[in-house]
Amino acid sequence: MDLMEKLVSLCKRRGYIFPSSEIYGGLNGCWDYGPLGVELKRNIKDAWWQDMIARHDETDAPEGAPGPFGMVGLDCSILMNPTVWQASGHIGGFNDPMVDCRETRNRYRADQLVVYRLVPEGGESAPVASDELLFAAPGEIGKTDEATLLAPHRKRVESLRKKLGDVRLLAVPDALSDTNLRERTLAPGAKEPGSLTVPRAFNLMFKTHVGALEDNSSTAYLRPETAQGIFVNFKNVCDTARVRFPFGIGQIGKAFRNEINPRNFTFRSREFEQMEIEFFCRPEEAGEWYRYWRDRRYAWYVKLGLSTQRLHLREHDGDELAHYASACADVEYDFPFGVSELEGVANRTDFDLRQHMETSGKDLRYFEDQEPDADKRRFLPYVIEPSAGADRAALAFLCEAYCEDEVGGETRTVLRLHPRLAPIKVAVFPLVKKDGMPERALALYRELRSNFNAFYDEKGAIGRRYRRQDEAGTPFCVTVDGQTAEDGTVTLRERDSCEQRRVPAEAVAARLADELKSSPGVA
Ligand code: ATP
Repeated sequence: MDLMEKLVSLCKRRGYIFPSSEIYGGLNGCWDYGPLGVELKRNIKDAWWQDMIARHDETDAPEGAPGPFGMVGLDCSILMNPTVWQASGHIGGFNDPMVDCRETRNRYRADQLVVYRLVPEGGESAPVASDELLFAAPGEIGKTDEATLLAPHRKRVESLRKKLGDVRLLAVPDALSDTNLRERTLAPGAKEPGSLTVPRAFNLMFKTHVGALEDNSSTAYLRPETAQGIFVNFKNVCDTARVRFPFGIGQIGKAFRNEINPRNFTFRSREFEQMEIEFFCRPEEAGEWYRYWRDRRYAWYVKLGLSTQRLHLREHDGDELAHYASACADVEYDFPFGVSELEGVANRTDFDLRQHMETSGKDLRYFEDQEPDADKRRFLPYVIEPSAGADRAALAFLCEAYCEDEVGGETRTVLRLHPRLAPIKVAVFPLVKKDGMPERALALYRELRSNFNAFYDEKGAIGRRYRRQDEAGTPFCVTVDGQTAEDGTVTLRERDSCEQRRVPAEAVAARLADELKSSPGVA
């Protein structure tokens, strides 16, 4: 089993993540978070909200910030006036190119289906020959290794090697839009070339109707991002919140995209949660703020446990930028299925506010009453947007945390989650179900539960109970045993080291508070 399969199985077994409506066969691209998963995801969202919004102190600008700034939050509705999506460009332009395979009936995003050719060493610039067979493989360019791509074509590769000597694998850009090349392309899993359709634009927004009439006038959309709710409330916030400029508005909430090909567990879902900030600043300072947010967002994941070896900051090249963006960087994580985006940080210029100002006819310029120069008092701010996905973050933290190690000659599975993110902070056990141990353990559990998410378990061998908590990612276990009745001490076991120390029962709560507080990343 590879890491991804093991993780999916652990998530199911321990109640982290289940397929949605599973008893009816599930629904592609939709997932349910179980009792542990909901806590993990809530902890991620809370950490983001606390670190970015609620505990932000504008008089004490975070280190590296170009100056003091304000942060406030919003919680906007999922259904919005459809003109929002006209103005934002989503109705006209939020499309992915879709390709179907007539033979296997699989559906792909054309930009994620790469067409490859095999050419003799040194023949890289030769045009595609008329009898050359091309093949398509899912996988973003450069992110899938060559052996995996070539595996289904072993026989062909061997015979070509015999005929031509060493051959190289080359991607053929835009091959699917060229009828000639498409007809010669072998689709993944297909027997005959030419089964792929012409790429067609497919709008990713889910449509619905508001009210009793189902006609064009009642069409509404499930929001495909939380950002637009922030833009259309920009003036409301300016008029009411007394925030110090520059300032950011954050929102956490569900977003929906009818993804052509949901895959890689929760990574690409059709219903997911975003954690987005729109940071409004002076156009001339946008470059500096862009770098500030890009670096701060990268550091946030590191603080909560992602390793810098697996977490990358990738600056987009000019030709990769959306037409409205002047800079963009992806925070990418090395998932078991390849390096993929966790969060995008973009300098969106004044594109969104300008679009909404023009479409709505409302003046959305910011008014700076402290500005001595009258010409500079009213202006349309630039926007820096750090846009993160809560589900992708949860998946990255789970991948990073998953570990198998040896304890006492036995292999155990452990989730080394950051204590701030761990669903259960402490589990309390009586060693055995007699001699007053359950009563003492329950009393301690109740005391701890008023401060921490705690769990009580008295069933089964103690070793099994420890293993179960290791798999749940619980950083501490406390066991009441025979000695507790004699001297009032209990054992405190630490998840990662398996180290056990005796601690007075009445000191456990304070000790845990200290341990949890001293973990790096706890604000
Ligand atoms: P991708 O290229 O992977 O489709 P994107 O660039 O379209 O993503 P954005 O529009 O920038 O994504 O969305 C911001 C964030 O929202 C992403 O970084 C990701 O964390 C999250 N996100 C976007 N689409 C999905 C999805 N289908 N499932 C889960 N999370 C998503």
